[in-house]
Amino acid sequence: MAGEFELIARFFTRPVSRAALGVGDDCALVRVDAGMQLAVSCDMLVEGRHFLSTVAPERLGHKALAVNLSDLAACGAEPLACTLALALPRADEHFIAAFARGLFALADAHGIELVGGDTAAGPLNICITVFGQVPAGGALLRDGARPGDDLWVSGTLGDARLALEVFRGSVALPGEQFETVRRAMELPQPRVALGLALRGVASSAIDLSDGLVGDLGHVLRRSGVGAVLQADALPRSAVLAAQPQALQRLCMLAGGDDYELLFTAAPAQREAVLAAGQRAGLALTRCGGIVAGQALRIVDAAGDEVPVSWSGFDHFA
Ligand code: ADP
Ligand code: MG
Repeated sequence: MAGEFELIARFFTRPVSRAALGVGDDCALVRVDAGMQLAVSCDMLVEGRHFLSTVAPERLGHKALAVNLSDLAACGAEPLACTLALALPRADEHFIAAFARGLFALADAHGIELVGGDTAAGPLNICITVFGQVPAGGALLRDGARPGDDLWVSGTLGDARLALEVFRGSVALPGEQFETVRRAMELPQPRVALGLALRGVASSAIDLSDGLVGDLGHVLRRSGVGAVLQADALPRSAVLAAQPQALQRLCMLAGGDDYELLFTAAPAQREAVLAAGQRAGLALTRCGGIVAGQALRIVDAAGDEVPVSWSGFDHFA
């Protein structure tokens, strides 16, 4: 079996070009362009909590980086570098090779370089830290939503939660549909290009990791505003749209693991928003508006209140 340093050398050491120094020394060295701020975010994936043991290691490598890139996307930051802290029960080379393949494929797609990390024996645990750059003062934050702004969301919502319900045995889907929603859960695509295109256009943004209602709540609290959310306007896949309405709403409003961007923008920016969606190759949906106050009202197409009994995911609630 390979030792710690052999594993690092074989699976996690690659030449870097954007970073000044990658794996191998006590620190990595990362260049940031003049006038830019470093955007830093860290997300941990714990087996049984954030992923099921049934996930293919290649998809796990993808998802571990994807959820972190999603945070850079939400801030409108350009990805630069990442580190990987990995606890592994065994030095299983097939697992590590497949994990690294998934991780580097997504890294290459986004021009982000793995520049360091830590490797230890222990219960499977993956912690990636990403570093990106954003023009000083130009980051998209959660605190900029203002009354009158439109509320927008990218892509479709709820498929990852639908897949989770299939794994839990509460929903049955035909094989092909299950594969579609399973991909949404295991292979989320971070909306980096959209985040970049929304700089200077959106007034606030967040990535949807813990469920729309909970994540929107973070924006509302940070911005000191309320919102009206149009439940029937929310974008959903054909697979989810074929499910009972209550399940659709649960998946879209409380689902989690969507990794789409939720953002606000002034109505004067509508054309700029749609242009940003086109540049990023993504459908964007206007799904409500920001109002004065603190309350979140969720209404259906008839304007009637949609009762909500769940909020965002909380590990300790
Ligand atoms: P230190 O003792 O200084 O913490 P280590 O011996 O843990 O250094 O790691 C040696 C080098 O390998 C360092 O440059 C570290 O950043 C890198 N490294 C360790 N584990 C990983 C990993 N899983 N992925 C990428 N780089 C790693
Ligand atoms: Mg170390």
